[in-house]
Amino acid sequence: MTHPPESNDRSRTAVLLRVVAPALRRLLRAAFPRLSAEQIDDWIQHLWELVLSGKESFPETVSTSDNATAWLWRVLKNDVLDSLRRREFVALESLASGSSSGFELPDSQQWGPDSLAAERERLQRREKLLSDVLQDYVLDCESREAWIEREVMERLLRGQPREEAAKAMGISIQHLYVANHKGRHRLQELMQQQDVHQTVFASFYGKPRGRHPLPEEAVPDHQTSIVLLIRWLIEEAGAMCPSTKRLEDFQASGLAMIAADPKAFRDVRHHVDEAGCRLCQATLDLASE
Ligand SMILES: [Zn+2]
Repeated sequence: MTHPPESNDRSRTAVLLRVVAPALRRLLRAAFPRLSAEQIDDWIQHLWELVLSGKESFPETVSTSDNATAWLWRVLKNDVLDSLRRREFVALESLASGSSSGFELPDSQQWGPDSLAAERERLQRREKLLSDVLQDYVLDCESREAWIEREVMERLLRGQPREEAAKAMGISIQHLYVANHKGRHRLQELMQQQDVHQTVFASFYGKPRGRHPLPEEAVPDHQTSIVLLIRWLIEEAGAMCPSTKRLEDFQASGLAMIAADPKAFRDVRHHVDEAGCRLCQATLDLASE
């Protein structure tokens, strides 16, 4: 008895998915440790639906179970990150509603597929989010090779005190101030250019399109909320991850190059090893298996 080709493809795909499932679960747990076992099952199930329904189909270059895992991991990771973008949108909306009393950091209990209305997604697609600006900023730094500035900004946005950051980087506090000033200025420019969510403007500038610095220590409540949201975006949603290319270059460079030049890839080493970005660690672990 013969099967039509589609059905053969489908069953081959189903077998492949079963083979790679344990690796994908492991990566998901490592990258998003807040997910419960049940949520991990939901995400894997959602991935199968995407692939088996043909909404996501294997590119032709994917032929072995190794690179199938890498491709599936990318789809899965992006799916989860999209869901985090929906939480970010809701958090920005709650900031926009006027006071910080309505603001809540996105709750990991809700990180499941399809748990928010499609309307939110539709709205969000029209909106440039804060995480997009942070990602653009990282790419901008990479194109300018502004490694020190990028590292200074990541350390401070993650909440490290300035003196401590300068000491850890082995630069003077004046050097750090200059880098921080440049970084803030560039971030503000990107926000203005991209017309990011109005709330973010209001909070960063004190008033829309004004010229106020990014929030420092003593800040009003709504600015504190933005600071917390930024931290969440960096720590949980990969908003300051290096580009795929830079992460690959870092991996390809190997330890010998870093031993020869301790400054090489300092920004990535800080992001991955010191700050411990779980998303990048999972991607690097997968590539080195
Ligand atoms: Zn990362």
